[in-house]
Amino acid sequence: MSEYQHRARKRFGQNFLHDAGVIHRILRAIHAREGERMLEIGPGQGALTEGLLSSGAELDVIELDRDLVPILNHKFAGQTRFRLHQGDALKFDFNSLQPAPHSLRVVGNLPYNISTPLIFHLLNNAGLIRDMHFMLQKEVVERLAAEPGGGDWGRLSIMVQYHCSVEHLFNVGPGAFNPPPKVDSAIVRLTPHAVLPHPAKDHRLLETVVREAFNQRRKTLRNTLKALLTAEQITAADVDGSLRPEQLDLAAFVRLADQLADLQTPA
Ligand code: SAM
Repeated sequence: MSEYQHRARKRFGQNFLHDAGVIHRILRAIHAREGERMLEIGPGQGALTEGLLSSGAELDVIELDRDLVPILNHKFAGQTRFRLHQGDALKFDFNSLQPAPHSLRVVGNLPYNISTPLIFHLLNNAGLIRDMHFMLQKEVVERLAAEPGGGDWGRLSIMVQYHCSVEHLFNVGPGAFNPPPKVDSAIVRLTPHAVLPHPAKDHRLLETVVREAFNQRRKTLRNTLKALLTAEQITAADVDGSLRPEQLDLAAFVRLADQLADLQTPA
């Protein structure tokens, strides 16, 4: 192996993109422009990094695998618009990049084992972000983009759609990666809402209600929410307690969370 060859590591979720057509299609969907603030999570050996930099954007990248640092530096360190942060994206303080509000464009072919916690970590900083483009397991993208009424609609769909609009852009087969993953993948665009369409009085209570409701998704709301709200309180939120959680839309979950917030606020 030459000095800069790297063997893909499973524990870091390393599936490197090698299909030039797919890489080009992703870069076209992102459409980075000169002067924009981009953040790439998990640049790997730089399959997307190269195209992002050539757009003229300012690019910070976060890579966990120390062994990839010399490879990335060898390829890109000469460029003043490139900044490499070696570390865990799940622990990264996005404020440290000091982006203007709603300016940061986040991209990544994400390690599938950390994609959900990472999306939640980013949503805690939604005010900094303009948009996010991710390669994820196709099944996860289907859950993100789901609509009420089906089996894909759940905690992930609701909490992400509370903050963002979601677009399932296109699917990518295993052959585009080296090594090929066992699952199909897809590209998703998440765009934080400029104004929340259904703001909750306390979004932590929304998380509580949603988690509790979907703990047992086959049961009625009256049953699953017993510990939080009585049947009368559910009705007072204009929600039919005989429904199952997957039948409720985001607005209805927010009404339940607000009902809970009112009960917790002394009159
Ligand atoms: N972007 C490259 C590509 O498309 O070829 C690599 C994608 S690979 C699926 C995921 C990358 O994320 C790997 O380089 C891996 O080392 C890195 N990674 C894994 N866990 C990470 C974490 N917690 N924080 C930052 N990077 C991580």
